[in-house]
Amino acid sequence: MSIKIENLSHIYMKGTPFEKHALKRINLEIQDGEFIGLIGHTGSGKSTLIQHLNGLLKPTSGTIIIDDLDIADKNVKLKEVRKKVGLVFQYPEHQLFEETIYKDIAFGPQNLGLEEKEIEKRVKQSMEQVGLDFKELKEKSPFELSGGQKRRVAIAGVLAMKPDVLILDEPTAGLDPRGRDEILGQIKKLHKSQKITIILVSHSMEDISKLADKIIVMHDGEIVLFGSPEEVFQQVDLLEKIGLAAPQISYLMKKLKKKDPEIRDNIYTVEEA
Ligand code: ADP
Repeated sequence: MSIKIENLSHIYMKGTPFEKHALKRINLEIQDGEFIGLIGHTGSGKSTLIQHLNGLLKPTSGTIIIDDLDIADKNVKLKEVRKKVGLVFQYPEHQLFEETIYKDIAFGPQNLGLEEKEIEKRVKQSMEQVGLDFKELKEKSPFELSGGQKRRVAIAGVLAMKPDVLILDEPTAGLDPRGRDEILGQIKKLHKSQKITIILVSHSMEDISKLADKIIVMHDGEIVLFGSPEEVFQQVDLLEKIGLAAPQISYLMKKLKKKDPEIRDNIYTVEEA
């Protein structure tokens, strides 16, 4: 499913002394099935942008067309948008609330008014997609699980909506290296097998460079770079200027050039402001 954003601006608390121009005339086109990495310093506008893509925020001006549907249109129902675009928030496990894992994952599909048989099929499939055993875990409380497993339940809940576009905001934040690699591996597999469009927000250039077809770099409400990892990492001066550390970039460039498989074993994280 393709995404076309034209002249998207968002101003928080417009007309108050706290007014913040968080997105400034963003133009962007994402093709069906692309894996996009979204990177930028804290406060650069990443969350604001992705919340527009599933209708949580409405633009101050501009349009967002997802598969011919203008989701910025006030008449478009949020439910319609959610069927197309799934958003996994940061620390999504904080939103788990049902008494069993099954019920938690089934919550979204139930709201769509699907039949129980279809709901069960979706719960089972989405648990498989994130590597959770359906039979063993479905009746357990999500609160009995480890941090990494809880997060997978939360991701499964979004997958159960069968979105065509999956957006993940820092899905590995706070996980240990093993948990992180597992989640990233599952996301990669999902992209390959389901051919869905993925947007992955991450502070880790390494994660993004090994997964994404294209990288969006945001700075101060604007997209300053958009291209393949090679194209983006070549802009060392610009990246350094906006606080995305240069030594890591030259390292990544070398790895990319060599197409070194070891790239996934060395994680370099861009420091927070
Ligand atoms: P990022 O996700 O890259 O950290 P955000 O989209 O969260 O960036 O924020 C972009 C800018 O908008 C920041 O200056 C932030 O302080 C501001 N901002 C974000 N959310 C709000 C809000 N609800 N009200 C006012 N300002 C906000």
